[in-house]
Amino acid sequence: MLKIGITGNIGSGKTTVSKIFELLGIPVFYADAAAKAVMTTDQLLIGGLKQQFGNEAYFDNGELNRKYIAAKVFTDPAELAKLNALVHPAVFRSFDEWVKGFSDVPYVIKEAAILFESGSYKLCDYNIIVTAPLQMRLDRVIKRDHITPSEADSRNSRQMPEEEKVKLADFRIKNDDTELVIPQVLALHQQLLKLAESK
Ligand code: ATP
Repeated sequence: MLKIGITGNIGSGKTTVSKIFELLGIPVFYADAAAKAVMTTDQLLIGGLKQQFGNEAYFDNGELNRKYIAAKVFTDPAELAKLNALVHPAVFRSFDEWVKGFSDVPYVIKEAAILFESGSYKLCDYNIIVTAPLQMRLDRVIKRDHITPSEADSRNSRQMPEEEKVKLADFRIKNDDTELVIPQVLALHQQLLKLAESK
């Protein structure tokens, strides 16, 4: 079974494209949702966070004190790096567990906004990037999330530039209205099936 990573910068449409793969019967792991979930389910991570940030990192009922953690890391890149160093491996563990649930599929997909930034792409057999021009991506998230153009800009500026990611990816899906997306996904699906067969 192949492990395929899929990413794209904000508003590129990586989730939309992932849903099309799901319609084709391909299981998709959503890493951003998993990153939230592991905060309260992965004991190794919980222990690590308490050790790193103090017991105040969690409320007595086991819920994560998001505001407390956010305040710790927001202005301190070193603290943010420590948080990531704990959370990323927990998401990898969660993915590995999730994969075990599938034995009869040719490939599974890991959808992650920070696939390249986290190094997660190295653990995948192939990686896909979904692209669209900057203004189109910004317009989509402004509309979807009801945010201001400057907030969208600021979110975008925190990501690795799209062109850098294109260089690291094996496959590209253009979600920019110049080419229909579904035929691109179908063609890539056929390619991945062949690659899975020959593995
Ligand atoms: P983010 O990282 O910001 O969560 P994303 O890459 O997962 O974004 P999506 O959520 O899939 O992107 O798409 C962003 C928005 O753009 C959604 O509201 C989606 O419905 C819309 N969208 C995606 N593709 C297209 C398209 N080809 N035409 C019009 N709207 C689209």
